[in-house]
Amino acid sequence: KTSVPLPEQTRIFTVSNQKGGVGKTTTTVNLAAALATTGARVLVIDLDPQGNASTALGVEHRGDVPGIYEALLDGRPLDELMSESPDVDNLWCVPATLDLAGSEVELVSLEHREFRLRQAIAGFLAAHDDPKTFFHYIFIDCPPSLGLLTVNAFVAAREVLIPIQCEYYALEGLSQLITNVNRLAEHLNPDLRLTTILLTMYDGRTRLAQEVAAEVRTHFPSETLETVIPRSVRISEAPSYGQTVISYDPNSTGAVSYREAAVEIAQRGAN
Ligand code: ADP
Ligand code: MG
Repeated sequence: KTSVPLPEQTRIFTVSNQKGGVGKTTTTVNLAAALATTGARVLVIDLDPQGNASTALGVEHRGDVPGIYEALLDGRPLDELMSESPDVDNLWCVPATLDLAGSEVELVSLEHREFRLRQAIAGFLAAHDDPKTFFHYIFIDCPPSLGLLTVNAFVAAREVLIPIQCEYYALEGLSQLITNVNRLAEHLNPDLRLTTILLTMYDGRTRLAQEVAAEVRTHFPSETLETVIPRSVRISEAPSYGQTVISYDPNSTGAVSYREAAVEIAQRGAN
């Protein structure tokens, strides 16, 4: 095992990109699992009604299972809603159930509607301030839209992690996303910063992937991780076994690259 530093303050990431299918969920669960295997205690909050992160972590998310919906709408503590991942130690998940899809509408009429997740996490951190039960990382897996759920994630997080698929329109979506992050930070969460960009589904044989990667690095030299995540069949297979690639095939290129990305994130700290 590599020795990886643990943060003194809980690092709260929102994994965001308005585009679907760019690797948000895959990045969330695999980085979370990779960090958990280094000894960090990690919580994944599934904020996408699809519940893909819950599935990938092997955590039950049928309609009658309480999940993040109950935290947002009823104020239930995250401790009552999280389950430990069956395959990876130190890793917990608050699942998303389908009723979360209706919550965008239901949240609109509530007080402090943008701050619901932030309040839930504040309660969680307060309940885990003992060194033995302290959580080092929280990852929020966002749906592919800028609705109230994503706004809640931006308000609750301190760091934005953007996975970028190395393809033609990647940069176009990126500037729009960054405008949104800045606007939101200005109004609702001054602590929010874009700290991390991860290039995913990278196919180094194509010139396009190389060009997109080079351009992202030019614009975001300090945010973009050195590690790139290659396209890998093992990564895409793992969720159907209710596993991350970290436990499904630890020696595959996908698992190795997500572990390297996790080490980089830990070593860079929040800056
Ligand atoms: P998002 O959460 O942004 O919608 P996902 O993480 O669900 O995106 O990824 C979209 C699809 O691409 C999924 O089927 C996933 O298994 C697949 N995928 C993600 N990353 C990789 C990768 N590095 N190699 C191969 N397939 C991948
Ligand atoms: Mg997803």
